[in-house]
Amino acid sequence: MKLLLKKGRLLDPTLGIDFIGDLLIEEGKIKGFGREIEISEKDLEIIDCRGKLVFPGLVDIHVHLREPGEEWKEDIESGTRAALYGGVLRVACMPNTKPVNDAPEVTSYILKRAREKASVKVYPIAAITKGQEGKELAEFGRLKKAGAVAVSDDGKWVADSSLMKRALLYAKNFDLPVISHCEDPKLSFRGQINEGKLSARLGLKGIPASAETVAVVRDLLLARETGTPLHLAHLSVKENLPFLRWAKEEGIPFTAETCPHYFTFTEKEVEGYNTNAKVNPPLRTEEDVEAIKEALKEGLIEVIASDHAPHSPLEKEVEFELASFGMIGVQFLLPLSFNLVREGLLSELKLLQYLITNPSKVLKIEPPSFKEGAPAEVVIFDPEERYLVTEDFIQSKSKNTPLLGRELKGRVKTVILEKRIIHL
Ligand SMILES: [Zn+2]
Ligand SMILES: [Zn+2]
Repeated sequence: MKLLLKKGRLLDPTLGIDFIGDLLIEEGKIKGFGREIEISEKDLEIIDCRGKLVFPGLVDIHVHLREPGEEWKEDIESGTRAALYGGVLRVACMPNTKPVNDAPEVTSYILKRAREKASVKVYPIAAITKGQEGKELAEFGRLKKAGAVAVSDDGKWVADSSLMKRALLYAKNFDLPVISHCEDPKLSFRGQINEGKLSARLGLKGIPASAETVAVVRDLLLARETGTPLHLAHLSVKENLPFLRWAKEEGIPFTAETCPHYFTFTEKEVEGYNTNAKVNPPLRTEEDVEAIKEALKEGLIEVIASDHAPHSPLEKEVEFELASFGMIGVQFLLPLSFNLVREGLLSELKLLQYLITNPSKVLKIEPPSFKEGAPAEVVIFDPEERYLVTEDFIQSKSKNTPLLGRELKGRVKTVILEKRIIHL
């Protein structure tokens, strides 16, 4: 079977291409691209891509799929379906499942479930410490053998500096990237939202910027000492910027990530005690939003991931202090990130580099691309289409997002995943 995508704007950040042309797919593989491909075949299917962007699938390296153990919130089937609808054709899932993914049996189980149920490719991230308790290192070698692509205690920081240093050295032996959830738990203790005027007015305990930046700086120092590549998850505050600049100058092996909610929303979303806006790290101030955008523009932060964190009404329709942290996001990663292009902060190609090439590099996997012979992982995106975010539109089992009832711009129209053509 041959499939010809006609006259779309072809963008591939890995190959560095951006032009209007045709893309040919044969038997589920990329055959070639060019300004105009002329073939006359009987079994040729043509998709008119005029006015659309055509690019490789996104790679979201920060997703919580909740399976095993919390399937009422999300499972591998629903979480990856949400990803598919968002044009995210590969996801890496965090280990804070029940049980924690700290043993090869859990990693293998996730991969087995993915083979049975997933709409997109799943890459498990294993825990740094057993049970994510921050006391004893997990067995990285066996986890990697089972299919883990990185280690992280996401949800928690490895607060013991000596243990974290050993984790970095140990990970280096196995060529495993380490992902840090930067939050000093003593500084954020019992915190609910960003610390400032709003937390005082709402009578909620605040989470100061220092809770994040103290952790960022320690981890950068340890990455420098050990030489192990470190990935900083979900950065949210302006205080990080000078330290990230310093780390770049020093040549410290690190990459940094932010999430659409940190450049889309401010802490004002929690007004009225909206638990759907309760997330960790918390939504910050207008100034922080501007700083995160600046960091993206400067390339200090060069990965955008969703930190997709589904929670059911059971965890969200409760008193603010009792509500769980997190919001869903894998389905909105692309439309929200595309606002950075609309605002003139990043070019389309640069944005896609942050969503495809760089996250793949973090996990040391070959990025999806239009290289001849590569498996077809292609997204057709209409950047202009407007639509309402309704519960029906959301493919996740959980609907916890402040976007409910709001309008989004930019929609994935079709996904080609090897031999499958999925019109959404
Ligand atoms: Zn985290
Ligand atoms: Zn997370």
